[in-house]
Amino acid sequence: MTIYRATVLDTPESPFEGGRLRAEQDCGLAVEDGDVVDRGPFARVRAARPDDEVVDLTGGVLLPGLVDTHVHFPQVRVIGGLGMPLLDWLSECALPEEARMASVDYARGVAAEFVDGLLRAGTTTSLVFGAHFPAAVELLFERAASVGLRIAAGLVVSDRMLRAELLTTPEQAYAEGVALAARWHGKDRLRYAVTPRFSLSTSDAMLEACAAVLRDVDGALFTSHINENGAEIDTVRGLFPDHEHYTDTYHRCGLLGRRSVLAHNVHPDDAELDVLAQTGTAVAHCPSSNSALGSGLFPLRRHVERGVRVALGTDVGAGTSFSLLREGLQAYFVQSLLGADGSPLTPAHLLYLATRAGAEALDLGEQVGDLSVGKQFDAVWVRPDAGSTLDVVLGHADDADDALAKVFALGGAADVRGVWVGGDRLR
Ligand SMILES: [Zn+2]
Repeated sequence: MTIYRATVLDTPESPFEGGRLRAEQDCGLAVEDGDVVDRGPFARVRAARPDDEVVDLTGGVLLPGLVDTHVHFPQVRVIGGLGMPLLDWLSECALPEEARMASVDYARGVAAEFVDGLLRAGTTTSLVFGAHFPAAVELLFERAASVGLRIAAGLVVSDRMLRAELLTTPEQAYAEGVALAARWHGKDRLRYAVTPRFSLSTSDAMLEACAAVLRDVDGALFTSHINENGAEIDTVRGLFPDHEHYTDTYHRCGLLGRRSVLAHNVHPDDAELDVLAQTGTAVAHCPSSNSALGSGLFPLRRHVERGVRVALGTDVGAGTSFSLLREGLQAYFVQSLLGADGSPLTPAHLLYLATRAGAEALDLGEQVGDLSVGKQFDAVWVRPDAGSTLDVVLGHADDADDALAKVFALGGAADVRGVWVGGDRLR
C-alpha cells in the first residue's frame, strides 16, 4: 500500500450537468494493487495506515491521468505543418509520412517517440489512430505494452483516393484486423480499435469489412473522422449519394455505438447529432487541429444540447502538441470566439473534457477518469519549476478553480513531474 499526499483536483460529475470541481488540499490517496482504496484528509488516511509508504506530491496539483481520444501515431514528426487546409495537408504533409511507416525500422523509431510524447504530456489513456501497415501497428502495441500505457489502437484502412501504397482491400483489411486484435486486444492495458481513415477513402465494401471486425472482436472500439472540412464533406456526399448524410455512412453498416468515437464533427447538421446521441457515439473535439487547418469553430453547445458525448483529442500531427492542457485552453478560446453560440467553459469543464469525458468516451468510465475510491490510480502531477511563470501565478491563485485555470492557461508537458497508470509510475 502506498499513500500519495497532494492537492487533488478532479471532476467525478459532469460540469455540463451541474457537477463542480472537486478540490482537496492536503489530500491522502491510499493505493493498493493499482486501485484507489481510500481518499480523504491526509492526516486521517495516514493515521489509518501508519506503516505504509508516503509519496509526497505537495506543491502543484495532482490531476487524473489525461485522456486523449484522438491522436495519430505516424504523425509525430510532421507536427507543425502549418498553412494548409485539410485535404492539402493530408496529401502534402501527413500521407507521405504515413507511407514511410512501411519501413519497420522507421516505424519503430516513431513508435518510441510517440509513446514518449504521450507520457511526457501526462496522457495516460488514449485512442490512437494507428498506421496503414500491420507491422507498424504491432510496434505501437509492443511499445505501449512495454511502457504500461493504456491505449486502444488499430490498423488504419482505406481502399480509394489515397496514395497507392496506403490502400488495401476489404478482405485483407478484415484478415489483418482480426489477426492484430487476436494478438493485442485485451492484453495488458491494450484494446483494438477498428479504424477506417474516413468515408472519403473507404468504399461501402470496406466499411462493411470494418463492421465485420467490430462484430467479431468482442469489446473492440470504432474510430474515424467526420465533418471536419467543407471540401471533405462535399466529396463524401458525392461518393455516397444514397446516404442521408456523412454520419449515415458509418451508421448504416452498424459502426456507431457506445464504443465509437468520431473525430472533429465541426460541421454537423442536427439530424447527424441526433444519430450520434441515439447511438451513444462520442465526438473527439480537437480544437488546436481545427484552428491550425482552419477547419472551423466547433459547435460544442449544439452537441451538449442534443445529448452528444464530447471529449478532447490532440489530433497530433495536425494538432500542435501532445498536451491536453493546451488543448483544453484552445477549446476555451474556440468557445469564446463563438460568442452567443459558444458554450462558456469553466476550468472544471476543461478538466472534465480532458479526463472524465475521455474515459467515458472510451468506455473506461468505471476504471479511470477521476481519483475516486475504486478507480485505478491513473494520475499526473503538474508541478512547475520553481520561479517559472506558472509557479509564480499558482502562488497567487484565489482558490482551486482559479489554480486550475492557471494550469490550463500556462501548463504544458514541461510541467508534468510524475505520471502513474494503474499505480505504476511511468515517469
Ligand atoms: Zn485525425
